[in-house]
Amino acid sequence: MANEVSKSDKLKEKLFYNQKHAAELTSDKEIKLCDSFCEGYKDFLDASKTEREAVKFIQKRAEKLGYKEFNRDKKYKAGDKIFYNNRGKSIILAVIGKKDLKKGIRLSAAHIDSPRLDLKQNPLYEDSEIAFFKTHYYGGIKKYQWTAIPLALHGVVVKNDGTKAEISIGEKDDEPKFVITDLLPHLAAEQMKRSLSEGVKGEELNILIGSRPFSKDEASEKVKLNIMNMLNKKYGIVESDFLSAELEIVPAFKASDIGFDRSMVGSYGQDDRVCAYTSAEAIFSVDKPEYTSVAILTDKEEIGSEGNTGLNSSYFKYFIADLAWTQGINYHTVLSNTECLSADVNAAFDPTFPDVSERKNASYINKGVVVTKYTGARGKSGTSDASAEFMGKVRRLLDGEKIVWQTGELGKVDAGGGGTVAMYLASLDIDVIDVGVPVLSMHAPFEVVSKLDVYMAYRAFKVFFEDK
Ligand code: MN
Ligand code: MN
Repeated sequence: MANEVSKSDKLKEKLFYNQKHAAELTSDKEIKLCDSFCEGYKDFLDASKTEREAVKFIQKRAEKLGYKEFNRDKKYKAGDKIFYNNRGKSIILAVIGKKDLKKGIRLSAAHIDSPRLDLKQNPLYEDSEIAFFKTHYYGGIKKYQWTAIPLALHGVVVKNDGTKAEISIGEKDDEPKFVITDLLPHLAAEQMKRSLSEGVKGEELNILIGSRPFSKDEASEKVKLNIMNMLNKKYGIVESDFLSAELEIVPAFKASDIGFDRSMVGSYGQDDRVCAYTSAEAIFSVDKPEYTSVAILTDKEEIGSEGNTGLNSSYFKYFIADLAWTQGINYHTVLSNTECLSADVNAAFDPTFPDVSERKNASYINKGVVVTKYTGARGKSGTSDASAEFMGKVRRLLDGEKIVWQTGELGKVDAGGGGTVAMYLASLDIDVIDVGVPVLSMHAPFEVVSKLDVYMAYRAFKVFFEDK
């Protein structure tokens, strides 16, 4: 009788909620599709280390697919594809639907900024005949993780004459890299007594950028002079031009497969470029949707969505107002009927650090795209907390297409917490819920996701845009 399913097992199957490994629920054919999808994803990660580079990558791909710059004085018809570029740091993609905008839109919102080190406004100095850049970290980082790893420099410098120099150095194999030095263990007895958060302090995140003098004569600061001279020759900049620059230090690693089985992707910046890529690819796959599809790829989420390229500004609302204008309707009618997937990552359960999670409600790698009803901290502070009705709708959509999904929370109760852009969209009277990919080592210079989860996220955004 060993093979017979017992009565209680049958009833359990019917009544209990259980999560299986996504690979058990996915055909071999689809696993192949998933793996090839992630090849494109890795190319995107390597080409998009900053928000500006991500916008460029996505806009180029959009234009190739027939997307045109949005013009509020034009009349659009179903199937028309448009984009709106906000200052080169955020981009909105849209495909006009068959239904009137009055019926609302199907919206996704991911962010394309990631934790990093920004150069200070006056960054360059020489100490002990070594040249450095001073930095100010951007977003939540564990500072010690940024020392003794290869780093690259990306960004723009606006010169006094208004022209712009674009810089990217440290990504190609033959380009030099940069690094933050750390103490040798032999002499770190005092440093090792510091707490982990103070182990390396903010003002110790100084970037090593050079060590040879300009000449053999008697001047001081010759190493700094040599660096400045090189930068002047290559980019035409002088030291004061750093005052009007946005220069970002990011890890110089490339995205790669992780594990003997290549089941995962390791890379910098997967929070949240994993949802940026999957939601963009999802809207790119939509041709003539019922509802107008809109995908936002926004900046500044990691510092609280402030600034005019972040979602706490009005740029998205104004875009919708202009789009509504093309059909002669009020923008708030569009917003009030809109449904949104806030496309952001969640913390995957890490068996090495189980204490911060509650196992029944944590998300796991390889259990599919994670739908997070609420984020926030303490008593759900700082979250929009989606309604049961909207959660129910998303659940039906995903189950209907056999998309492997799970629920998740950002750590166990009172372990910490965090937020996403969801609450800024909810404040516009939009129904919104977080949907994204579980990440291991989130916010580290090298984060890990499962390929199957990436693919399920893409499918989830796609089925949402195809909503009838
Ligand atoms: Mn995020
Ligand atoms: Mn984040």
